[in-house]
Amino acid sequence: MPSTAATDWLASVEAALQRRDPGEPEFHQAVQEVLESLAPVVAARPELREHRVVERLVEPERQVIFRVPWQDDQGGVRINRGFRVEFNSALGPYKGGLRFHPSVNLGIVKFLGFEQIFKNALTGLGIGGGKGGSDFDPRGRSDAEVMRFCQSFMTELHRHLGEHTDVPAGDIGVGGRELGYLFGQYRRITNRWEAGVLTGKGTGWGGSRVRTEATGYGNVLFTAEMLKVRGTDLEGRRVTVSGSGNVALYTVAKAQQLGAHVVTVSDSGGYVIDEKGIDLALLQQIKEVERGRVSDYAERRGTSARYVTEGSVWEVPTDVALPSATQNELTETDAIALVRNGVTAVSEGANMPTTPEALRVLREAGVAFGPAKAANAGGVATSALEMRQNAARDSWTADRVEDELAGVMRSIHDTAYETAERYGRPGDYATGANIAAFERVADAVLAQGLI
Ligand code: GLU
Repeated sequence: MPSTAATDWLASVEAALQRRDPGEPEFHQAVQEVLESLAPVVAARPELREHRVVERLVEPERQVIFRVPWQDDQGGVRINRGFRVEFNSALGPYKGGLRFHPSVNLGIVKFLGFEQIFKNALTGLGIGGGKGGSDFDPRGRSDAEVMRFCQSFMTELHRHLGEHTDVPAGDIGVGGRELGYLFGQYRRITNRWEAGVLTGKGTGWGGSRVRTEATGYGNVLFTAEMLKVRGTDLEGRRVTVSGSGNVALYTVAKAQQLGAHVVTVSDSGGYVIDEKGIDLALLQQIKEVERGRVSDYAERRGTSARYVTEGSVWEVPTDVALPSATQNELTETDAIALVRNGVTAVSEGANMPTTPEALRVLREAGVAFGPAKAANAGGVATSALEMRQNAARDSWTADRVEDELAGVMRSIHDTAYETAERYGRPGDYATGANIAAFERVADAVLAQGLI
């Protein structure tokens, strides 16, 4: 099939999807970003069209939406909505996090689940793709309220889970505390000590060492690989990071370990610029212990730090930008500012933080760009390592997990790089990652028949 016919056909698949699933802009965006890369593969392999592999991949295998009733500390009745989208299990059990945030709706969960299929495929490990969550906002809630919410959420969700079926983990708003409550309720309802049903567990009860750090660490390792190709490294480089959750924190940590000078973090209220370099211990105390805000960091840090509520963190001049907050946080205007200030690499710690317009600007300027599917896959890869430890009733040392993580990140980098080169797009990691991941999933889908 000529390449133009393939492009037209992919466009028709996309148009059909938009008609069928209206009101899901983030999902459409995630699908479009992948389909844009696939024309050369579809042109070369007519069986993909004949067996409708692309149409099958954009349709989740199963979508669960449920009511989550719970009581607040005043005895008031609260109702939230829970989701689990089991997107594709051709490569292994559905795998992907749970997000608790007021913005969560079906379209957001589908975008995240769709991305997760390809991200998980890139790790080379045996995990399918899924995602879930709720519009519940844990911010400002007491521990007791969070526990009651998690118990109610799991009371419904548990029937869809299992170590060989569907294995959730954390995402925005779901960390160690929430996973503990979720696991406890699963264990109570099922009367099974099934460690492999959730990942990101506490290291004292089945969790893998370095899982908490893995997404941020992995993104920095991926960035270092991209810089190596360009004959440089992170030593002495100025780095800006957005966000101040789990991903951002351990991005700062690993970048500092590799000698970078990290000057920003942010949250929904604003960003902090700290010319002396972020004090990680202070930031961890505020975020992980006190569950505070970055404005508290600026207040306690002294004169080197400034809290800024106007404008964007991407206006701060930098060599390397690591968006680690949330989707569509880095816009075209931001990309123009970054390029004007001489950025050389942008790598996505969050899922889909860069808008398509911003990506175009970065591409045209020749900036090294690490797409989320590849660059932030270290988290879920370490989840798969946690599942492996659980299956063997084993517990690895931190060094062993870190070594494996570094190996996976290197292999993802090389796969994306080589695939991009093979398809005539040298240095285009986004295209390389999309094609390599798609081919792995598509081959499994084809081999397993029409299901
Ligand atoms: N939520 C993470 C992600 O976006 C991790 C998922 C997992 O470990 O299952 O990849």
